[in-house]
Amino acid sequence: MSEPSDDGVVKHRPLPSVGIPLLRDEVRASRVRRIVGASVVGVGLLGALISVLVSPELWGLGGSAADSVDEPPVAADPPPLHELDEPEADLDDLDAPPVEELPAEEPLGDGEGTRVVRPFGTSPGFRPALVAAGCTGAEADQLISALDGVMDFRRCRPSHEMVIERDLDGHLSRFEYRASTTQIYEARRTVEGTLVGSQVEVPIERVRLRRGGTIQSSLGTALEAAGLGRTLVGVFVETFEREVNFNTQTRAGDTFRIIVDEERVGGELLRYGTVHAIEVRGQRVGAHRAFWFETSPDHGDFFDSTGRAVHGGWLRTPLRYDHLSSGFDPRRMHPILRRIVPHNGVDYAAGTGTPVWAAADGVVTFVGPRGANGNLVSLRHENGYETHYAHLSRFASGLARDARVEQRQIIGYVGSTGRSTGPHLHFGLKRNGRFVDPQAELNGPGRMMGAAHLGRFRRQVRDLERELDAIELPSTPAVDSAPEAPSEAAPAATADGEPTD
Ligand SMILES: [Zn+2]
Repeated sequence: MSEPSDDGVVKHRPLPSVGIPLLRDEVRASRVRRIVGASVVGVGLLGALISVLVSPELWGLGGSAADSVDEPPVAADPPPLHELDEPEADLDDLDAPPVEELPAEEPLGDGEGTRVVRPFGTSPGFRPALVAAGCTGAEADQLISALDGVMDFRRCRPSHEMVIERDLDGHLSRFEYRASTTQIYEARRTVEGTLVGSQVEVPIERVRLRRGGTIQSSLGTALEAAGLGRTLVGVFVETFEREVNFNTQTRAGDTFRIIVDEERVGGELLRYGTVHAIEVRGQRVGAHRAFWFETSPDHGDFFDSTGRAVHGGWLRTPLRYDHLSSGFDPRRMHPILRRIVPHNGVDYAAGTGTPVWAAADGVVTFVGPRGANGNLVSLRHENGYETHYAHLSRFASGLARDARVEQRQIIGYVGSTGRSTGPHLHFGLKRNGRFVDPQAELNGPGRMMGAAHLGRFRRQVRDLERELDAIELPSTPAVDSAPEAPSEAAPAATADGEPTD
């Protein structure tokens, strides 16, 4: 479980941006230089994965039931996923984007020499990559000593780009290494003739957006209609997970508001930054607001207007998912086998490569392939709890048995290994050795903020409330106001517009 910090607030990993998977990368980069470097997360990341088909599969996790289900193979070729710029990707990762042959050389301009752009590619290391890109052995050695301590050579990835510039005499004048839009390193030839390395400062522009909208078919579609990315669905789902089930309770006509920073580089959207405040209102979901507040520069969380953290000690959903494809059900009729097979966990459909977080602080008790579970991580937590994360495409690098993990630490990535018909996370929870429903069990209230912060928090909330109130909701065609307690026939708008199983 989380340790309370000195101000009494449950210690969460900071959530400064929607691109949370980048956080560790950012931290590493900012240690090298004090600018925030980060890989680009496509805004349409979740959106691109929405259409992935996931058939529910049913089996017990790790127990004998897991292997007793003789599930016939289901032909379900999911549509191709968009390539993700995955910061933790391994060099030999099969998902690595294809290496394209780029033009060998292009002139820089009038009598200025040449400039070559090459991907890092499949080279086994930095030096071989430099040589493959046309550097001499001596040049490669000079570049390595110039960039040593500036960039981390072990973090080179096939998709990264290298730029080699030469003067008219063919001498190396400048080298650039582009790990992402914001992580760029260079080595320049000084007048003395030596190469000097540094990180290129990339200014990030922050624009505060205040947007609102009315949900017609899904929250994701409504966000897009408001000019925002579907990735922000995850913020709503995660923040209001105790109060709102976006898969079953959202109705056409419900509204949302959001205040979020957009971070841009050269006018292009890089990612979303801090989500300052969000609101949902609806017939069945009620009215909810949450406010981002930082109790220290690297420690923030969402709170309700009274100062209570929206999350308890657990992440009830240990990933940003597209939709819940199968709930916990000890007596569920298997749709294919047509007999009752317990489903000892919750299935969250999400794209391959979606980061999976530890639901709470704990210790790794298992990491590796395990039968029908595919690649499995199991964690032991305080008070007799265990969590299980199955079907992963791969594990977080360095994750090993007996390792300690913190809440929201990435432990693996969504996949479809083992008995699975499409990419999803099977999330199982045991209490004292028995499977229990994570959605019901991990639903405790969050803690109150420490009194020391309340004054500043209240002032901030007052301003944010005013800012939220000022967001005009577009007038929409009158929604037939269905009577309360709509019947089963009333279509549910889901978080992502996909029908649930
Ligand atoms: Zn499952």
